[in-house]
Amino acid sequence: MRIDIITCLPDLLESPFNHSILKRAQDKKLVEIHVHDLRHYAVNKQKQVDDYAYGGGAGMVLMIDPIDRCISALKSERAYDEIIYMSPDGNLLTQAVANTLSLNKNLILLCGHYKGIDERVREHLITQEISIGDYVLSGGELAAIVLSDTIIRLIPGVLSDETSALSDSFQDNLIAPPVYTRPADYKGMKVPEILLSGHSAKIEEWRHQQAMQRTRDRRPGLIDE
Ligand code: SAH
Repeated sequence: MRIDIITCLPDLLESPFNHSILKRAQDKKLVEIHVHDLRHYAVNKQKQVDDYAYGGGAGMVLMIDPIDRCISALKSERAYDEIIYMSPDGNLLTQAVANTLSLNKNLILLCGHYKGIDERVREHLITQEISIGDYVLSGGELAAIVLSDTIIRLIPGVLSDETSALSDSFQDNLIAPPVYTRPADYKGMKVPEILLSGHSAKIEEWRHQQAMQRTRDRRPGLIDE
């Protein structure tokens, strides 16, 4: 998979992709991340990519011209499955959305900033809009990182134990059961006996019961789905 991220703040995207699972996924050539600085497509020598909103009001708006030229340059190189604008009013990101997107080959993620982006970009240049939650961030970069992370860890081979993504919360509409590690007894706080029994069928059954119970307690809506 290849993910192209368009931003006017490329430095914000550096560190998260250079550690841990996201870095290993790139080292293993399972994903390529390309960050594009919108200012390379700026409309003038001042590297301008935003302007005042027509009709007045506070806040700058990202212009359509640089975004159009950046997207066009990328599209001339390869076909994209989706061109996604990160937006607080977009479709809410869920595990199901991540699962679907993880099957794609080439994605563009467009990050807005300031007051947002020219509405004509949203009408004509993108294929969908995704929100990471009902709150407003200063820019789309953190949202693009969240979306990329949740997609990349689903690509086969990215997690060393492939079943580990499948047993995460929200897969199969269940919350993950509790996990413990050594010591078995910490200041009197004990690990459930069953997990020390070595009886794998019973452990599986216990985990399933715990997952059901947690889902009922914390996300009852998932069970209805
Ligand atoms: N004025 C806009 C918010 C702009 S926030 C409004 O009220 O809807 C600036 C940028 O941050 C947006 O263009 C978008 O790319 C990004 N952003 C903010 N909140 C987000 C969220 N919850 N999910 C995804 N992107 C978000």
